[in-house]
Amino acid sequence: MPERAAPLIMPIYGTRPEAVKMAPLIALLREGPELDVFVTVTGQHREMLDQVNDLFGIAGDHDLNIHSPRQTLSAITAKALAGLSSLFATVRPDAVVVQGNTGTSTAAALAAFYEKIPVVHLEAGLRSGHRYSPFPEEINRKVTTQIASLHLAPTQSSRANLIREGVPDGEIVVTGNTVIDALHTVVKAPAAFTAPELRAAIRRDGPLLLVTTHRRENYGDAMSNVGRALRQLAAERPELRIVFPAHRSPVMREAMLPHLENLSNVTVVEPLDYREFTHLLAESTIVLTDSGGVQEEAPSLGKPVLVMRDSTERPEAVEAGTVKLIGTDRERIVKEVSQLLDDPDAYAEMSKAANPYGDGFAAPRCAAAIAEYLGVGSRMADFNHSVTE
Ligand code: UDP
Repeated sequence: MPERAAPLIMPIYGTRPEAVKMAPLIALLREGPELDVFVTVTGQHREMLDQVNDLFGIAGDHDLNIHSPRQTLSAITAKALAGLSSLFATVRPDAVVVQGNTGTSTAAALAAFYEKIPVVHLEAGLRSGHRYSPFPEEINRKVTTQIASLHLAPTQSSRANLIREGVPDGEIVVTGNTVIDALHTVVKAPAAFTAPELRAAIRRDGPLLLVTTHRRENYGDAMSNVGRALRQLAAERPELRIVFPAHRSPVMREAMLPHLENLSNVTVVEPLDYREFTHLLAESTIVLTDSGGVQEEAPSLGKPVLVMRDSTERPEAVEAGTVKLIGTDRERIVKEVSQLLDDPDAYAEMSKAANPYGDGFAAPRCAAAIAEYLGVGSRMADFNHSVTE
């Protein structure tokens, strides 16, 4: 293989949330001359991944294109593992970067490990403490921790989780979450909503409830409960605007969408591109979600978040009082949304802006830590937010 001028770093990702969180880092890594960058996408998601890459102007250098409808976790892992193993035979990076906890990130870490290629883990150290919640993410990220050589922990509490599990302190850098960098970049730029029905919903008056759901552990009855709760809220409160950008998951759609038909104040749209989504977040009154990334973004915009899960690996905003775990019981969802709509004090308490996940400079900290790891730079001071500040 030819001698390289700079160490080669390979970011590998495959889903929408990974793309959002990788994008600010890839932009920075590509800016400097210290590192060569080769971007590999697996295509675990297809349209939702391409939306983010297009928005941030990222073209993958290699695309495994593994997506198939109703793909199983095993198929995702097997295809990513095999595809990456072949790729490493022709492109041998000095390190790979994987993000978070998806099938792609775990398979990529494992494929790199088999080739003795060091792994950098972006968003390391999140733990819910529950094997099956979120599923399969909790175990995915633990596996990646075992393999990684450099752990980019977003917060002090994620760092503490890693230390508790025996990761050496010297291998951890606390960076903040790059999702806040992405959010800051995108929410500043003007955006117009593309879907006519969304434009119509935005023009109407009334509180706006933004809903997203996609977690595998909520497939089935839990999602049907959410659908029923939304139907009840829509019927009881004609002034409420409910907007639901529906994830591509066919399982989620089958469980949720039948409950949302023929309701004039419920707007179901295709997944929004990230710019539109963040602007919708900024327009919303309350956010009801089971998403990880949305739990991080909404507090930064001062939006109360009701999380349809029983546990979270993101305790910081719960402690700050802007996120509340409410599960997926229909009555509970109706009660919690109603309380925020009817009680201005409760609403004010939860809508204080909080930024425990980042200050918008996570990507520079990550890039510097990677450069240091590869011997061509030095790290920056850790991100250190205290919710009591
Ligand atoms: N998002 C988006 N369009 C949408 C819904 C969400 O761009 O229609 C973004 C959101 O802002 C966040 C990310 O997608 O950055 C979260 O993805 P998701 O909820 O699918 O995954 P999770 O974060 O739960 O892993």
